[in-house]
Amino acid sequence: MATLGTPQHTIAILQKYNFRFQKKFGQNFLIDSRILDKIIKAAGITQEDFVLEIGPGIGTMTQYLCENARAVAAVEIDRNLIPILEETLGMYPNVEIIHQDILKMDLAQLAREKNCNAPIKVVANLPYYITTPIIMGLFESRMPLDGITVMVQKEVADRMQASPGTKDYGALSLAVQYYSYPKITAHVPPNSFIPRPKVGSCVIHLSKRQEPPLPVSDEKLLFAIIRASFQQRRKTLANGLQNAPGLPIGKELAMQALESLGLSPSIRGEALSLEQFIQLSNALKGMLVY
Ligand code: SAM
Repeated sequence: MATLGTPQHTIAILQKYNFRFQKKFGQNFLIDSRILDKIIKAAGITQEDFVLEIGPGIGTMTQYLCENARAVAAVEIDRNLIPILEETLGMYPNVEIIHQDILKMDLAQLAREKNCNAPIKVVANLPYYITTPIIMGLFESRMPLDGITVMVQKEVADRMQASPGTKDYGALSLAVQYYSYPKITAHVPPNSFIPRPKVGSCVIHLSKRQEPPLPVSDEKLLFAIIRASFQQRRKTLANGLQNAPGLPIGKELAMQALESLGLSPSIRGEALSLEQFIQLSNALKGMLVY
């Protein structure tokens, strides 16, 4: 069976199985082998690696992963794709096709059972409707993670990589940068997919941080502060925190904490670096009486 990364082979398989794309599953299949090469290279896959692929589709990228990695687990939600994957991946002994919703899987258990709890590389052309829950789920799961290399909507990649003070900087930038070092490695046009998405795409590599950039006293409080700070972008940080539901922080306390860090009381959330958000949450943690 020829490799799939061309329009002709992809169309032939889709026709053979009379496959109907399901919009609700974010199905845009890659048909450009140069992009597949770039993803494998950005992920730094070697023959030692165990790779988790999210949403293999008809198995286009999975074939590349099987050729380059030691073992691959491919998790696909659409039951109509399973018989196709059994054909397109039939010649690879190192792949396991798992018919599941990635958001419902116990990823720590997968790592224990399939890879002796050693770090896993995640590679995916993600379904765009659930990019953020998938990425945050991977970081927050107790699955040992080596790195994540994913195709996402360009606008989302820009937000993940954004620096303080830019228009794209926000809660997603901080959450991703708390867990990893993001780097956009390729820009991908809509005509690299069938069907063509309405938006541009990027490959982004998220190399896992071993530790947060500074010690954090209360991770939950840190993320609640970050979310509250970007809820209303035009408000000052002190006002944003004061109005945040569920955060027992009055304006006085917020201003006091900002002052203790040498920050202006009228500063906006978008001006603070991740390190400064950590310092602010640590300072507030010390001042709060629960
Ligand atoms: N990897 C293939 C490719 O590059 O051609 C397909 C990528 S397509 C953008 C996204 C894939 O994720 C689809 O096959 C879709 O059915 C699958 N998918 C969508 N939601 C999923 C979920 N919750 N769990 C697992 N797979 C999912």
